[in-house]
Amino acid sequence: MKFIGAHVSASGGVENAPVNANTIGATAFAMFTKNQRQWASLPLDKMSIELFKKRCLEYGYRASNILPHDSYLINLGNPDAEALHKSRKAFIDELKRCEQLGLDRLNFHPGSHLGKISEEESMRLIGESINIALKETSSVIAVIENTSGQGSNLGFKFEHLKYIIDLVYDKARVGVCIDTCHTFTAGYDIQSKSGFEKTFNDFERIVSFKYLKGMHLNDTKKGLGSRVDRHENLGEGLLGIDPFRWIMTDPRFDGIPLILETPDETKWSREIQLLGSF
Ligand code: MN
Ligand code: MN
Ligand code: ZN
Repeated sequence: MKFIGAHVSASGGVENAPVNANTIGATAFAMFTKNQRQWASLPLDKMSIELFKKRCLEYGYRASNILPHDSYLINLGNPDAEALHKSRKAFIDELKRCEQLGLDRLNFHPGSHLGKISEEESMRLIGESINIALKETSSVIAVIENTSGQGSNLGFKFEHLKYIIDLVYDKARVGVCIDTCHTFTAGYDIQSKSGFEKTFNDFERIVSFKYLKGMHLNDTKKGLGSRVDRHENLGEGLLGIDPFRWIMTDPRFDGIPLILETPDETKWSREIQLLGSF
């Protein structure tokens, strides 16, 4: 079974996210559990937590249908010791917020080497960051998102995801999220049928579908291998609608949150309907 939704607003409180998801007919959703552009945030209050859980139950969202996303400020591969410490602290806080909400996974971008250290050195910091954070928490799965590889961002090759997973001690608590826009702009041609098949066979061989804990379904404004991250609404970009049809009809993508991060939110309910119709 497919669970489809979008990254909905949690403005006014996390308890509003399930309402916003239900309004667009979503059976899955993503959200931020705090302001994604600030380091510090007030702790979640008891009322918000209870209401969030109550509404998820009411609308039929289980933890496995929800893919919270961490703050954009966090860089778990930061070569600067002080900045790395700040990121690790913030990441642990994000994981704890997920646990308070009864959620089982947290989606994050692996990190950036900032041109100061090698890819491998930065990925080793990322692996160490994940191990530290998992030790400080008890249940949430750290879900690494693949990236476009813009700037010095890591995670644009399946080998990067594999390299980081290999460093994590508790394999039951690490996963990946594949973003279709990022995959294509990183250089994987999922726009053609043969390219799509090859890409996901490579993914199975290098990473394995058993680690796939979510997908971001985005079309792209930028080309194959451009290493530029600009999302587009489904069917309006360079991917077109076919790759999304192939995902929706492929059982390897069953049971995980399939999340739109497309720019025009007014189209989300129609996009969800369209995906569900395949
Ligand atoms: Mn993301
Ligand atoms: Mn994404
Ligand atoms: Zn993106």
